[in-house]
Amino acid sequence: MEAGVVNRKITQGLERISKAFRVLLWEESKLYKISPIQIQLLIFCDTHKKENLKVGFLATEFDLTKATVSDSIKVLLKKELLVKKVNPKDSRSFLVELTAKGKKIVKKASLFTSALNESIDYLSEIEKGVFLKQLMQLIYQLNQKNIISTQRMCLTCYHYKKEGNNHYCNLIQKELKNTELEIDCLEHKEL
Ligand code: SF4
Repeated sequence: MEAGVVNRKITQGLERISKAFRVLLWEESKLYKISPIQIQLLIFCDTHKKENLKVGFLATEFDLTKATVSDSIKVLLKKELLVKKVNPKDSRSFLVELTAKGKKIVKKASLFTSALNESIDYLSEIEKGVFLKQLMQLIYQLNQKNIISTQRMCLTCYHYKKEGNNHYCNLIQKELKNTELEIDCLEHKEL
């Protein structure tokens, strides 16, 4: 079969999955009367380093303008889901932190991908590993073309080493199975 035809089918498949993700996120955000991006910002705040939770970093992370992120943050502050914190490294900017109310929403909202998770569970462990690795290669290529701006994956990490088909993390000094490759690692260090 012609390569272009296969590529189109894969692209269509990815588009359908992306649509499912948007629908699930939209349904969830309606429950809390906030926008899908605001839900994603709250979830991000729960799972990432405190020093990164500032407008500029969030804008880069979500490929949005600072003004858009700033507007969303204002809503979340007003709804008392986030609170402002002094940025010890720069007194001209501020950091945000989840409030107890925000944490409660994150706990419930994080489950919004459960339908996708259940579907992924139809794959075997080996299939999941291969899928994850291929997904990362695709993300890597998109990053190289400046379409996806940030990534904290093993493939772009200073600590990552590839030996043949094997992966190794120099930081934890451990061989990584395909399923152990990280896609958003807090210890990631740019090359
Ligand atoms: S530090 Fe994290 S991203 Fe880097 S190689 Fe190790 S596991 Fe992968």
